[in-house]
Amino acid sequence: MIDGELAPARELLRSVFGYSSFRGAQEEIIRALLQGGDALVLMPTGGGKSLCYQVPSMLRPGVGLVVSPLIALMEDQVAALREHGVAAAFLNSSLSHEEQRQVLGSLRRQELDLLYLAPERLLREETGTLALLKEMEIALIAIDEAHCVSQWGHDFRPEYLGLDRLKDDFPDTPRVALTATADEATRKEIVARLKLDGAKRFISGFDRPNIRYTVRMKGGPGADLMAFLGQREGQAGIVYCLSRRKVEATAQKLAQAGFDAHPYHAGLSAAERRRCQTRFQRGDGVIVVATIAFGMGIDKPDVRFVAHCDLPKSVEAYYQETGRAGRDGEPAEAWMSYGLQDVVRLRRMVDESDADEEHKRIQRARLNALVAWCEITRCRRAALLAYFGEDREDACGNCDICLDPPETFDGTVAAQKFLSCAVRTGQRFGAAHLIDVLRGKDTDKVRRHGHRNLSTWDIGGDLSARQWQAVARQVVALGFARVDAERHGALALTPEARPLLRGEQAVQLREEVRAAKPRREPKPRPALREISAGDEPLWEALRQRRAALADAAKVPPYVIFHDSTLREFVRLRPASAAAMLEVHGVGQAKLERYGAEFLAVIAAFPAPGNSPPIAPSRLLPS
Ligand code: ADP
Ligand code: ZN
Repeated sequence: MIDGELAPARELLRSVFGYSSFRGAQEEIIRALLQGGDALVLMPTGGGKSLCYQVPSMLRPGVGLVVSPLIALMEDQVAALREHGVAAAFLNSSLSHEEQRQVLGSLRRQELDLLYLAPERLLREETGTLALLKEMEIALIAIDEAHCVSQWGHDFRPEYLGLDRLKDDFPDTPRVALTATADEATRKEIVARLKLDGAKRFISGFDRPNIRYTVRMKGGPGADLMAFLGQREGQAGIVYCLSRRKVEATAQKLAQAGFDAHPYHAGLSAAERRRCQTRFQRGDGVIVVATIAFGMGIDKPDVRFVAHCDLPKSVEAYYQETGRAGRDGEPAEAWMSYGLQDVVRLRRMVDESDADEEHKRIQRARLNALVAWCEITRCRRAALLAYFGEDREDACGNCDICLDPPETFDGTVAAQKFLSCAVRTGQRFGAAHLIDVLRGKDTDKVRRHGHRNLSTWDIGGDLSARQWQAVARQVVALGFARVDAERHGALALTPEARPLLRGEQAVQLREEVRAAKPRREPKPRPALREISAGDEPLWEALRQRRAALADAAKVPPYVIFHDSTLREFVRLRPASAAAMLEVHGVGQAKLERYGAEFLAVIAAFPAPGNSPPIAPSRLLPS
């Protein structure tokens, strides 16, 4: 399609942001907003949502308002924009009185292209912000993390509910709501609550092809966090644990092993948490060990792994949390180890929460879906995408199942033995005790309950305790039994178990149940475009220069240049300002600010003999 309308947007993309083309739906979204329409944007993390409102804010007359839930997120976005030479500012409680006065001054003088604010700052009458903005020309209103408006979601923010008034306050201003997580129900809720009925919808695919998904069974091969991290020294990552205590213990263990690891949980003071976030965001290769309280508001593109030491609460939460890895598009890992005990604990948390019954029912169903996903025997990515309503037939080749397919076998008899044992013991016991009975162990509990006399006593000596645990997990994951949290994790049968017990249905179980053969640990995939040994000195020198500049500017290193841009410097060795401007991620402002410094570094390292000459066609990003 030929249209001049988007020419200025493309020019801005190139000259300000240093990118050669729009990605995915960006162009269509920008077009809709430039034409004055509303939009609902669903794009996976790292998809490039910010440009969708930044570019039209700069092109339309007036200032673009960005409503964002977290202060840290705003500050970093604004810092990054300023590095690009964009007139951006934020208003929030972290600013001093004088700083606020300055921001309001430049707003009144119409000097700003973008203004970031928290919803409460915008809506609270006494701040006078809304009244002031109503007198100004507003380019557009962007509502970021729009799923915060959903009361069923895990990030609900009551202040977001007030944002519906913006439709009436700014009837002629285009509004755009953006989010990375929203199933169909949440989408509807966003549209209804933000009064976006007329909004054009832009739903992008959920796939994050550069993230490798791996799920390990606790106690089984490859389930050790330290072994996982041992191959990833110097990489930034997030390690999630369910409890504060475990967060503290894990962080300590990692620190002792020499990792730059720090704990983060709700028990720390606000100042401590903030310090931890900043260290993570600004640092190089920092690991944060956190309860799920950590993550939203983290906008760090070079997070190389997200490790779950415990099961998250739902597929949605898992997708959101793992989505924080690899926003820069480089290879990243989503690694999880889980066991049946996790399911018991999470069930208990749901049951004991003071949510209403309806809410609890939804939470339980979501947890079940995640457990089932953990135990699947086909491509994880395909199943994850299917959960979000995206069909994909082919196996991805970048998940644990594709890389090392588990074999399955007829586990009907094992499952029958296990389920009968649960029935014979009155469906009042957890997996550990059932396994003791099956394996004929003479424990106190067995004696106390007289379980030696059961017909299922000692009929399971053919499998090890660990293999029985795998059976237990899978009968739960497959929906034959459920964890009864009220009875301390007792396993109770579901109606689906009946045909299985009657022998009318067979069941396939994962091979690990039968023989715990040693599994190959897939090798970490090398970075897409690796630095060769000969290029290593230049690469290090570029990183050092970047670190020094970042330090001086008090911004994270990637705000100066992303790793991918430095890598292109190494590969292409630009020798002039014009050649540098061609490199992905170099715009006019950055060229002026840093070009000379990096050209000098590159000039100091002549190419090792085997580097190919720079052909102009190769200057485009691959
Ligand atoms: P999101 O908010 O959707 O998670 P961001 O807006 O932070 O994603 O963008 C993710 C990364 O992708 C950023 O580093 C951004 O600079 C980069 N990016 C966005 N759009 C483009 C593009 N058209 N070309 C190249 N890189 C882009
Ligand atoms: Zn796969």
